[in-house]
Amino acid sequence: MKKPLNFALIGRSGSGKGTQAKLLMEHFGNNFLYISTGDLFRDLAKSGSEPALKIKKVMEEGGLPFDYLAIALWTHKIAYELKEEQGLMLDGAPRRLNEAKVLEDFLDFLGRKESTFNILIDISREEAFNRLTKRRICKNCERLIPWVGDFKNLEVCDQCGGELITRVDDKPEAINKRLDYFEENVVSAIEFYEKNGRLIKINGEQPIEKVFEDILKAIGGK
Ligand SMILES: [Zn+2]
Repeated sequence: MKKPLNFALIGRSGSGKGTQAKLLMEHFGNNFLYISTGDLFRDLAKSGSEPALKIKKVMEEGGLPFDYLAIALWTHKIAYELKEEQGLMLDGAPRRLNEAKVLEDFLDFLGRKESTFNILIDISREEAFNRLTKRRICKNCERLIPWVGDFKNLEVCDQCGGELITRVDDKPEAINKRLDYFEENVVSAIEFYEKNGRLIKINGEQPIEKVFEDILKAIGGK
C-alpha cells in the first residue's frame, strides 16, 4: 500500500491555511486525521479544569498557552487516533520551535517524516491584518466573504444577492497580538524547517485556486 501523505500547514492568521487544508484533504481522498491546535484548545477550554480556565483567558486575549500543552494535546490525539492508512493534516501547527522539533521526532518515529510536507502559506503582516478586519458577511444568508482576490470587488452576496456587511469577530488588538505572536514564535519554527531543507514556501497572496495549484506543484516533485 502507498504510504499516506502528511501535511503541516503554517501561516499567519488569515493566510487561508484552513481552506488549503480542506482542499488538500479532498484532493488526496479525504482519509486524514485532521488536527487544529485551535480546536484542541477550544475543546479543552470547555472542560472547566484550572488549565482550561487559564487557556480560555489567554486565548481571549489573542495569546496562546505554553508550548508543551499544545504538544501534549496533538501528540495525544495522534497517539490515540491515527490509523496506518490515514494521512495527517496539521492545520496551524507547529507554532513554536519546540513544537516543530517534537513533531519532527514523532514523525520520524512513525516512519512518516519523509512523507510529510511542511508548508508555509506566506502572506505579509499587512495582508493578514486587512484580511482579518475587512472580510464581510452576507446579512441575509451569512455567507462569509473573504478579503481576497475577486471577492474584494463583490458589492452584494454572490449567492443570494444580499447586503454585505463587515463583521470583525476579533478586536484589532487581539488580531495584532496574534500577528505579534507569529513574529515572536512561529518564525523560529519556520527557520528551523528552512535550515533543515524541510520547508515549502508558497505565496499566499494569490487567489485560493492558484495557491492550491502552487502547493500541488511544489509537492508533486517528490
Ligand atoms: Zn447571501
